[in-house]
Amino acid sequence: CYLKVCHTKLKAFSTFSIGESRETKGRTKGADTIVIRTQELLEELVEKARPFSAEGKVADYIPALKDQNPSDLAISIYTLENHSCYAGDHLKKFTLQSISKVITLALVLMDYGEDHVFSKVGMEPTGDPFNSIAKLETHKPSKPLNPMINAGALAVTNMIKGNTGMEKWERLIEFINHMTGDKVSYNEDVAYSELQTANLNRSLCYYMKQHGVITGNVEDLLVLYTKQCAVEMICVDLAKMGAVLANDGVDPESGREIITRDVARICKTFMVTCGMYNTSGEFAIKVGIPAKSGVSGGIMGAIPGKCGIGIFGPALDHVGNSSAGLKLLEMLSDEYSWSIF
Ligand code: GLU
Repeated sequence: CYLKVCHTKLKAFSTFSIGESRETKGRTKGADTIVIRTQELLEELVEKARPFSAEGKVADYIPALKDQNPSDLAISIYTLENHSCYAGDHLKKFTLQSISKVITLALVLMDYGEDHVFSKVGMEPTGDPFNSIAKLETHKPSKPLNPMINAGALAVTNMIKGNTGMEKWERLIEFINHMTGDKVSYNEDVAYSELQTANLNRSLCYYMKQHGVITGNVEDLLVLYTKQCAVEMICVDLAKMGAVLANDGVDPESGREIITRDVARICKTFMVTCGMYNTSGEFAIKVGIPAKSGVSGGIMGAIPGKCGIGIFGPALDHVGNSSAGLKLLEMLSDEYSWSIF
């Protein structure tokens, strides 16, 4: 029974915030029927999208990511009424990678405010790859273009409060646990594997240190950054984090404000302008929702006032987005008219 796999955590609901699919539109249906239909639809769409993973390739520049199965595909939707549905390989754990950049940005924005944070990192999208150093040199004074590219994210992680690396890490993971409502941790193998091979990120750090964008010990920063990128979870947790952003920073489960409304708005704006690497423009046209992807194949979506989305499909396209995940989001956005534009 599909209802069994749809774990309904809360009370009965009268409206289903993800919107109506084409099929249910205009027809009076009970909430349970919509949940069942959503679950069925997700299963169908996952199987339709899965073949697109053959067009992508699993990231291998972080050696530990090479072992992921390219044809895995999972999705979860977490509604603002606290329902979650999932389909595909939803029990597979994956690391956040770049998705974590949204979370650290939220944390430092709440700690330091916009003026300070944006004195160190810009607000403009880029057409360059996520790990490019080019603009750091041509932009005067040197400043990473935005917090979603590696240089900008490293500068943001450098701002996390704490006297020691451990204190900073604990602060970050506690914040993430508040969002997921679950206890998550990081994958040590993936973190270590990235730390050993992160010479491009190392060079970005040294360049920024020379120009006063970051302070402190570069190796310590890389240890923290690689742990942050290696935070591991399943797609339901990721959808829950998206739901907090979709709900203006308020946890739909506890009703507690985890992120201020303003900071949640800034995060979602960056997700729209820079969240899907250097194809964010195309994604805005084809899908039209705030989303952030990572080289593990994860995508976190936050559909304002509706729901959070967590996707995992490790085969990536040429810029670093999940090939099958993109297709799946495109089909869902079309089905539920999710585009915010
Ligand atoms: N840890 C990865 C890196 O810094 C994250 C990149 C990504 O997911 O875009 O290369």
